[in-house]
Amino acid sequence: MASAKVAKVKKQTSPTGKKGSENTEEGKKLSDYEILSTIGTGTFGRVVLARNRETRNYFALKVMAITDVIRLRQVEHVTNEKEILSSITHPFIVNMFWANHDDTFLYMLMEYVPGGEVFSYLRNYGRFSNTMANFYASEIVSALEYLHSRSIVYRDLKPENLLLDRDGHLKITDFGFAKKLLDRTWTLCGTPEYLAPEIIQSKGYNKAVDWWALGILLFEMIVGFPPFFDDQPFGIYEKILSGKIDWPRHLDPVVKDLIKKLLVPDRTKRLGNMKNGAEDVKKHKWFKSIEWEDVLARKLTPPIIPKVAHEGDTKNFDTYPEDEWQKTAAAGEKDIALFVDF
Ligand code: AMP
Repeated sequence: MASAKVAKVKKQTSPTGKKGSENTEEGKKLSDYEILSTIGTGTFGRVVLARNRETRNYFALKVMAITDVIRLRQVEHVTNEKEILSSITHPFIVNMFWANHDDTFLYMLMEYVPGGEVFSYLRNYGRFSNTMANFYASEIVSALEYLHSRSIVYRDLKPENLLLDRDGHLKITDFGFAKKLLDRTWTLCGTPEYLAPEIIQSKGYNKAVDWWALGILLFEMIVGFPPFFDDQPFGIYEKILSGKIDWPRHLDPVVKDLIKKLLVPDRTKRLGNMKNGAEDVKKHKWFKSIEWEDVLARKLTPPIIPKVAHEGDTKNFDTYPEDEWQKTAAAGEKDIALFVDF
């Protein structure tokens, strides 16, 4: 089979497209926190390690410049992100304590997840064993089932957005594209390699896109690169729509069967999106040894235990230039007013 070049670079999410305030974490102003270093960057913001000056606890603070959010037409997306994160609690979803803003930035204070991205582990291992992939997939299925039961579609499943906590369990982060659905939605957003055919074709779409993305993720975890791969987004879209997949010979036939049932272009026949919903995925024979209550109770044994020396250890993250980002100019009054509820 033609071997695709593995993308060493991270896949960029394209921007096309109230627990918080009640929580007990006391400091809600930026000045209550010591900003230590950048641990991640997104298209229009960064995530920094922050330490509460009083409690000395560590947090991940997502910081987005208001001017950039507006310039990149992301007002609705960041508002969705904050609303959704403040309305959910799940063992495999990053916990947000509060959101806030000043004249320059929007802030979201989250638990710090110190194990780093599954992306980094996957690139180091080359590919994951069937057992490893099965563990991560179980925790993802449990999180997707929870989100979908609340009519939330996540829309950005990929190894870059999956973090490992200290014990090696998953935490899904980046709800920048998550959306509460009443019916269907049409926005073109997500990451090229992970887009379902109905998004590329601008058809209305729903939670089925997350099950498609799970199929892509399973393939990428087990094979080491995604099934539809090209240097250019357009090339990727063509391959997705052609539906042709090169299956490597070493693939376990049971996981291949599951991936095939998730990567069904007709979303009415896609596993996870039929009348029994997530239950069909959970009942697939690749998950036959899984006790789903144990998954939720974090009782499965994680295959990777991250090396974390102390609570504020950032060794599992890349280093990023600080770029004097704190000197960003304040937004105009009208622009700030768009975020009164943030
Ligand atoms: P985001 O802009 O939300 O996609 O975050 C960018 C990157 O920051 C992610 O890919 C992670 O590497 C890192 N990150 C996000 N949230 C957290 C968190 N709660 N704890 C640790 N790192 C995080």
